[in-house]
Amino acid sequence: MKEYITSETIISELRNLRQVVFEVTEKCNLNCKYCGYGELYNNYDNRKQQHLQIDKGVRIIDYLVDFWQEHPNISRRKFIYIGFYGGEPLVNFEFIKKIVNYIKTIKIPYKQFQFNITTNGVLLDRYMDFLVENNFAVLISLDGNKSNNSYRINLAGKNSYDKVLENIELLRNNHTGFFTSNVNFNAVLHNRNSAEEITDFFRGKFNKRPSIGELNTVGIAKEKKDMFLKMFTNKNESIVNSEQYEKLQEDLFLETPEIYSLALYLKQYSGNFYNTYNDLFIDENDWPFIPTGTCLPFGKKMFVTTNGKILPCERLGHTYALGQITDTEIQLDFEEIANNYNKWYARFESQCKCCFIKKGCTKCMFTVDNLNDQPVCNQFMNESSFDQYTKKHMEFLRKKPQYYKKIIEDVIIE
Ligand code: SF4
Ligand code: SF4
Repeated sequence: MKEYITSETIISELRNLRQVVFEVTEKCNLNCKYCGYGELYNNYDNRKQQHLQIDKGVRIIDYLVDFWQEHPNISRRKFIYIGFYGGEPLVNFEFIKKIVNYIKTIKIPYKQFQFNITTNGVLLDRYMDFLVENNFAVLISLDGNKSNNSYRINLAGKNSYDKVLENIELLRNNHTGFFTSNVNFNAVLHNRNSAEEITDFFRGKFNKRPSIGELNTVGIAKEKKDMFLKMFTNKNESIVNSEQYEKLQEDLFLETPEIYSLALYLKQYSGNFYNTYNDLFIDENDWPFIPTGTCLPFGKKMFVTTNGKILPCERLGHTYALGQITDTEIQLDFEEIANNYNKWYARFESQCKCCFIKKGCTKCMFTVDNLNDQPVCNQFMNESSFDQYTKKHMEFLRKKPQYYKKIIEDVIIE
């Protein structure tokens, strides 16, 4: 089998690991209609409403600390972000508190820990002081105004908007500086809101620019496809169809798929983009070819599920676990992970080799159906579609040349 990556590649990524995210609990105090663990999807393990055990969280931290001591890294990445995710993570606050306090006792040269949490905001009134004391970055999920937010219902079927808004106001009033610097918002786009409504709401109420995400398109249950299609709204279309398109584009900048795509294009094809000074000495044609745009294992993060599975990120089905935290040990076999990735990459080689966007590919192989059989990438580009793609960006830049400078100077893409 062709070796695109080896166990050494994985050791190197783990050495530079940027983020560990804990799925703190499967429990949630809301019952959002489009939840990735809800009725629309079938690509996740059965939810047992369990919490992640504290000793499993401590075990993986100890493993990583030993690993980093054995494989020290003094390069540019200094911060390790520890994230708490759910379900609703604040439902298992005990885990968060113990892990944060444990991590604060750890000292590793050249590494510093920072905490972040993604929350639905329902329990913020109880736990905000702890988050402030520990300088958390807080991402609150809310879909806009009360009617925009009507898919985010509580267990009694009531819109969660009033309670969440009350908590956000409390946080802003009690900790104004923290609110300004550490709090951001995350909204899901669907058929009951629009990019414009979401942006206006957060700008007007909190002077913040939200991130806007689409419904997850992977793992939809066959019998729910109609429901999914009714709810799904494409982000680019929502922005382009907005009455204040120009202003919205300016406002959302990289959040706009059009500008994000331009930034990726300029990164790959402008010839003016370097990640580090070392890149200036390397001929990019000497880089080994790896099919697809999938991140390397642990290249973006390590995600730990409530049942101790170790995944490359929270967006993947649990079938793609890279390892397991058991009651006694950490099972992470670097050879096996490399072999599995090599097997998957190989299935894309013939498509990717003749794909014209391979240099700038962002397609994750885990989002392609039939990965274990004969996956077919729906983003493949032949010469003429790549010409169209280039033309689209050139035309955009011709109309708005100011974006070239802004992207090259202001944007960091990793
Ligand atoms: S979706 Fe794929 S490419 Fe993106 S972080 Fe997850 S594993 Fe990596
Ligand atoms: S977009 Fe092209 S390079 Fe990327 S995975 Fe698809 S076929 Fe391969």
